Amino acid sequence: MDLKVDARKCTGCRICEFACNYHQDETISSIGSSLMFYFEEKKNYYGMMVKRAKTLYLGRPEGEQLLKPGEQIEGAGASAKPILLRVACDCCEDEDDGPLCVRACPYGVLSLEG
Ligand code: SF4
Ligand code: SF4
Repeated sequence: MDLKVDARKCTGCRICEFACNYHQDETISSIGSSLMFYFEEKKNYYGMMVKRAKTLYLGRPEGEQLLKPGEQIEGAGASAKPILLRVACDCCEDEDDGPLCVRACPYGVLSLEG
């Protein structure tokens, strides 16, 4: 199973980041989240990055992209770099009621698939 993003519906509210951070270390913050939204200035939209064990998943309105470590995150700017240092998404395996980010998103952007 992997976390998927339908970025066309994302408003950039960032609630999912706080939900993931709470899953990771039970604090109210976003700096330890496995996922992070970013603003693509040239195309004027929000996308979502998800740190996976071996790749970085980008969910963009025009589709998905998988990056390997060290590959440039086109359009995401320097603000995207911190997520490369974070803990990878574990799909909330130990959460009885399902992934916290999926449950927290008000717009149905996130889902577990595979
Ligand atoms: S599925 Fe769980 S670990 Fe993965 S990004 Fe969402 S909250 Fe974080
Ligand atoms: S909670 Fe949903 S709408 Fe808000 S930033 Fe996250 S994915 Fe986007």
